[in-house]
Amino acid sequence: MSNSYDVVVIGAGPAGYHAAIRAAQLGMNVACVDKTLNAEGKPSLGGTCLNVGCIPSKTLLDVSHRYEATSHYEALGLKVANVELDLGGVLAHKEQVVAKLTGGVGMLFSGNGVTAYHGVGSLLPGSDVKVTKDDGSEEILNAKHVILATGSEPMRIGAAPVDDDRIVDSTGALSFTEVPKRLGVIGAGIIGLELGSVWARFGSEVVVLEALEKFLPSTDERIARDALRAFSGQGLDIRLGTRVLSSENHGDGVTVTYLVNDEEQTLECDKLIVAVGRAPYSDQLLSDDSPVKLDERGFIFVNEQCETDASDVYAVGDAVRGPMLAHKGMEEGIMVAERIAGSKPAVNYDCVPSVIYTHPEIAWVGQTEQELRDTGANYKAGTFSFAANGRALAGADAEGIVKVVSDADSDRILGVHILGPQASELIAQAVIAMEFGATAEDLGLIMFAHPTLSEAVHEAALGVAGHAIHTVNRRKGK
Ligand code: FAD
Ligand code: AMP
Repeated sequence: MSNSYDVVVIGAGPAGYHAAIRAAQLGMNVACVDKTLNAEGKPSLGGTCLNVGCIPSKTLLDVSHRYEATSHYEALGLKVANVELDLGGVLAHKEQVVAKLTGGVGMLFSGNGVTAYHGVGSLLPGSDVKVTKDDGSEEILNAKHVILATGSEPMRIGAAPVDDDRIVDSTGALSFTEVPKRLGVIGAGIIGLELGSVWARFGSEVVVLEALEKFLPSTDERIARDALRAFSGQGLDIRLGTRVLSSENHGDGVTVTYLVNDEEQTLECDKLIVAVGRAPYSDQLLSDDSPVKLDERGFIFVNEQCETDASDVYAVGDAVRGPMLAHKGMEEGIMVAERIAGSKPAVNYDCVPSVIYTHPEIAWVGQTEQELRDTGANYKAGTFSFAANGRALAGADAEGIVKVVSDADSDRILGVHILGPQASELIAQAVIAMEFGATAEDLGLIMFAHPTLSEAVHEAALGVAGHAIHTVNRRKGK
């Protein structure tokens, strides 16, 4: 088999495998190198997202939500007896989902003619790639174009060294074989809140320690406030303004020492999840004299088109600037494949949706009111509560709001912010509207099926001009 390719992709996470498949669809001869091994020691495609990220975490979130929801069934007139948690069964279900999807990437590679190499890829001078296999043998791939998609890894802090026993990162927290009685979480970011929610629903007493004074600072202020209240009501003890100083696994548990108001306090827990963010990963990827440069935070330096400083070498996904989200990497991977093929697509970084898969879910796209205020922009906003949405009430799932923010002069939608049921699905409507340059009035003029949760998006858009029907509008419109 020839080792010459039009495109070699390093990393088969969402950014890399989208790039590889799209390049193959466009008629290029493509290889993809990935080093991930699963728990059985077998190569497993799909990167962080499929193996230890989005998919296993959403599996646990969905299952734990259904389990916890049974405790509210009586209010709906349903009596369920003896609902029991079989954690082994839950973990087996999660592993099956992961196996199906990671195996699916392999099938997509075969079906599209992408050659998969297992091993560590390193960029050689020019644009060739060395693959170092698990047995230490090496193979050189000649590449016309290289796409670096090496992703990210959990950030480490000296105050909580991960030992994969009692002190774990997000990967360890996806596989607890028993529900910890007392669970500590460092970091109230997306990953900390999602994993804290999973284990709280399964019965852990969860304390989340967060150094910042402000909860979810990049989220709409009202939504962050309402979400904090909702999560606290679910038993998540979120302690803001608490900086962890040290953590000690003393065999029977973990003692976490943290600073709050200049005073040291301690927390005893059975397991501690360290969820303090993720760092770009480029170990063994570049030689010291590589023309590909990293920025000061370790991200591979790229321009808007994901071109690195080396010709014919691109980088995409978590390894480069921008939000560390699977869908952002997927679109970058596709953009780069199409640019190599001669088209000129671009990623619209102003329209990247963010989702926190808690319950209620939080989802947003575009700018928040506080960001607009800070820049002195002139905007207007419409808000609608799920408490006035028939479908949400029918499902006894009516906590939260939709907020639509638009430019005061042009009415063009600048941001949409949702706390509520299915927010992760509803936000797609806002992304589509914004991509098409819609105004709040445009969204208000569209017919939405009744009764649906989507009507809350419609009503919030109507509310921008004071026209919402199922609420008394604060802003009176004509
Ligand atoms: P990765 O998925 O990290 O893939 C990179 C791949 O490259 C890996 O397989 C790695 O082993 C391989 N690799 C690295 N270096 C080399 C090398 N030199 N040679 C060969 N192979 C190499 N994002 C969302 O959008 N939605 C979510 O719900 C979500 N949930 C998450 C939950 C958790 C618990 C975590 C940890 C992350 C979550 N994310 C989520 C983030 C998401 O997983 C990442 O944004 C996404 O996986 C990044 O894709 P990527 O292709 O850039 O990198
Ligand atoms: P994110 O970057 O969104 O994944 O969130 C990680 C969170 O962890 C951030 O909100 C940080 O403020 C928080 N964090 C980082 N280090 C510490 C620490 N030592 N103690 C408490 N919180 C921390």
